[in-house]
Amino acid sequence: MKVGIMGGTFDPIHNGHLATAEAVNDALNLDQILFIPAARPPHKRGRQLADEFHRLAMTVLATCSHPDFHVSTIELERDGPSYAVDTVDALKNIFPPDAQFFYVLGADAALELHTWHNAFELVSKCFFVAATRQGTVFDLDAVHKNFPADLRHHIIHVETPALEISSTDIRDKILHRRSIKYLVPEPVEQYIRKERLYDH
Ligand code: ATP
Ligand code: MG
Repeated sequence: MKVGIMGGTFDPIHNGHLATAEAVNDALNLDQILFIPAARPPHKRGRQLADEFHRLAMTVLATCSHPDFHVSTIELERDGPSYAVDTVDALKNIFPPDAQFFYVLGADAALELHTWHNAFELVSKCFFVAATRQGTVFDLDAVHKNFPADLRHHIIHVETPALEISSTDIRDKILHRRSIKYLVPEPVEQYIRKERLYDH
């Protein structure tokens, strides 16, 4: 069984996340992808996040129509900072022993993977998929160089459609009364409007 992991603050989840997840799902023939909203990302202490209940609700709304997409509350339910290594350990306890995990990352995040908490242990426990935009140059060797030789085959590269979308940009558009149509799934936009998220 091959299980993708899509972690993020999902504040809000957007079509860039979804298109990336689907491209990896398709390229690697995964059985399912788990979307895991983060509780307190160690690298995002500064900004106030939307309530985790809202981030979870939007993640469910965005993924519910895809048969392979699932949402896990594993990081929201855990106390303290969400470290990927703890998440992978917890998932290994839940899934059958033959399950292989593929943790999906944007190229930006892949270049910093070696700075993550217990990075070598983490990379020994699952595969990492650096999802890069078609047409952009990505130096997989530069990422590999940060890890011991015997772990390097655990970090792979998949090209995904180029979508210039970020949650930051979406929050900014809402604040300035601009359109977010086609940047997020329609139910997510409706939810954002109804709950008046990011508009003040
Ligand atoms: P923010 O703007 O608040 O940082 P974000 O859009 O980058 O939000 P995150 O929740 O931080 O979203 O990202 C979760 C994961 O999704 C990260 O691995 C990130 O690299 C990846 N990601 C984000 N946006 C895209 C995109 N447009 N295409 C592909 N991957 C993306
Ligand atoms: Mg980001």
